[in-house]
Amino acid sequence: MIRRLVIEDAERCVGCQSCMFACTRREGNASLEDQRIHVKSLGGVARGFTVIVCRACKDPSCMYVCPVDALQKREVGGVRLSSEKCIGCGRCVDACPFSAITMDSETNKPLVCLYCGYCMDYCAYGVLGVEKV
Ligand code: SF4
Ligand code: SF4
Repeated sequence: MIRRLVIEDAERCVGCQSCMFACTRREGNASLEDQRIHVKSLGGVARGFTVIVCRACKDPSCMYVCPVDALQKREVGGVRLSSEKCIGCGRCVDACPFSAITMDSETNKPLVCLYCGYCMDYCAYGVLGVEKV
C-alpha cells in the first residue's frame, strides 16, 4: 500500500517534538538530529507551532533541480531518493517550497520523508495522519 503523510490539523500541535524523536528513533538514533519531520514555534506558545514535512507534491520541484536524477517521483506524489546517485549538492534543499528537506549531517545526503507514518503513532494530538492511496 502506498502511503502519504498528511498534516491533519497543525493548530493542535503543542510543540512536544514527539514526532521528531520518533523519526530519529525509527532509524536507531536517540537525538534530535537528522529527523525527517520538524516542528517550529511560530513565536510563543500563544501563536502555536508549525509542522514541516514533505507534502508529497505531485510536481516536486526538488526532483527537477537534481542534476543527477537522484530523486524519483512517486506515482502518488513526493519523491524517493537513490542515495547511490546523489552527489550531496543540496539543490533539492533550496528548491523545496516547504523547507522540508535537510541534509544528513553524517552522509551529506538529503533527508526526505519516507511516508512510513511511524511519527503519526507518537503524536497524541492527532496532528499527523497517513493517507493510503
Ligand atoms: S520535498 Fe518538498 S518539493 Fe519535494 S516533494 Fe516534498 S514538499 Fe515537494
Ligand atoms: S543533494 Fe542529491 S538529491 Fe539533492 S539535488 Fe543534489 S544530487 Fe540531487
